Amino acid sequence: MGYDIERFVGYVNEGLLCCICRDVLENPLQAPCEHAFCSTCIHGWLVHHHNCPEDRQSLDVSVLRPLFRYMKNDLNRLQIRCRNREHGCDMVCSLESVDRHERECEYSQIPCINASCPILVERRNLEAHLAVCEYRSRECPNGCGYIILSADDAQHNCIAELRTELELLRSEMICKVEEVKHEMESRLDSQRRHMVQKESLLKNEVEELKSQMSRVMSDIRTLLAAERLHRQELEQAELEKRELMELLQSFQRDIRMEGGGRKAVGSRTLTRLDSMKRKPREVTVI
Ligand SMILES: [Zn+2]
Ligand SMILES: [Zn+2]
Ligand SMILES: [Zn+2]
Ligand SMILES: [Zn+2]
Ligand SMILES: [Zn+2]
Repeated sequence: MGYDIERFVGYVNEGLLCCICRDVLENPLQAPCEHAFCSTCIHGWLVHHHNCPEDRQSLDVSVLRPLFRYMKNDLNRLQIRCRNREHGCDMVCSLESVDRHERECEYSQIPCINASCPILVERRNLEAHLAVCEYRSRECPNGCGYIILSADDAQHNCIAELRTELELLRSEMICKVEEVKHEMESRLDSQRRHMVQKESLLKNEVEELKSQMSRVMSDIRTLLAAERLHRQELEQAELEKRELMELLQSFQRDIRMEGGGRKAVGSRTLTRLDSMKRKPREVTVI
């Protein structure tokens, strides 16, 4: 949309008016037929039309060009009043520089800088407003550390605020303690389960070892018994050997003693031998 022609001081050439809104061109663009439009006006028109609104000649966005330089210069030199004129600004400046002025105009309405304050004030009154703004804040002068909104000033009670804060901290703390407790419990639980498993494993191993041990013990007992038997047999054999040796010696003695007594002695020795042969022989098998 263009600039309201009423804001201009002095004569405005009709060639500097938009063919669509009939106001003074804003961000102007020109068609090949040399008709000029505000950028927003012609873009809006071409959404539903494909021609120049003035002479109906075919027109497309791609052929729109900036305004002729001499027209642009004329446009820029037009004298325009500040849009805050009704608020008291008497500024008249060239169209070229009006945007810059309006950005800094003391009569422009701007939002209060305090967050959540809904008030719009003229730039020149901002300071005065800030002094009374209900949304200005300051640290509690009693040292409780709170930033108090001006609107809440009267209700501020250090002790109540601190108590609320304390309650909050306490409940947070309880929550955290509960969390830690829960975690520790679950960790303990898993450790306990692990220990129980290990214990039963160990028990099994101990049982296995015990049974191995008892097998070994019974083996040892068997071996000991066998050894005892062996020793007895050895002793027995030793005894027999000794007896045999004696017998052999007496036999030899008998042989050396020639003559009639030979037969009798010989038969005596044989009898002894015979009795030894008949003794039961045990065979030990392990
Ligand atoms: Zn226009
Ligand atoms: Zn045209
Ligand atoms: Zn102004
Ligand atoms: Zn405010
Ligand atoms: Zn306080």
